[in-house]
Amino acid sequence: MPENWVVVPTCLPVILRRCHVCASARFRATGKFRVNAHHKLLDVWLLALCTVCGGTTKLTVLERVNVRSIRSELLDRLHHNDPDLAAELLQDPVVRRRNRVALDWDNAWRLDTGGSARLEDEAIDVAVRFAARIPVRPVRLIAEGFGLSRAEVERLIAEGNLVSGVRLSGKLSGDFTFTLKR
Ligand SMILES: [Zn+2]
Repeated sequence: MPENWVVVPTCLPVILRRCHVCASARFRATGKFRVNAHHKLLDVWLLALCTVCGGTTKLTVLERVNVRSIRSELLDRLHHNDPDLAAELLQDPVVRRRNRVALDWDNAWRLDTGGSARLEDEAIDVAVRFAARIPVRPVRLIAEGFGLSRAEVERLIAEGNLVSGVRLSGKLSGDFTFTLKR
């Protein structure tokens, strides 16, 4: 039986964009939207506040889109400032590219191992699932999951005792599995 780990977001990530009021480059989404209607055309922005001076910035979600082409479910969520919608939109690479912003997920996620990580077995298969597309270093994740240091995890990889179908160096934001041999 493989162990199942889940990377879970705990809050909205920080939006990296330069503040035009102060020198900060970190904004936090408020979870609120601004919707402007002009005849049948809608503009929608996601609002975010500078973490230092509280200045507002807007991320474009929809630009001059005919109201009839927007699903009514999405309109409802926009008008009610659906808190999950801000999270979904920030994970959308199209939204991030359009607004030329990157995200900082530090301290905005946790690893849920189900409390069952056992190191005494001969080989442990672990399936890691991402509840949100959060870029995380697998080395850091595995170290945290087993209570090891990152150096110990690097050594296990170098010795061929920690194997995966994906590259464990660098960052990942999608589901993967790995096997730890003892
Ligand atoms: Zn500022």
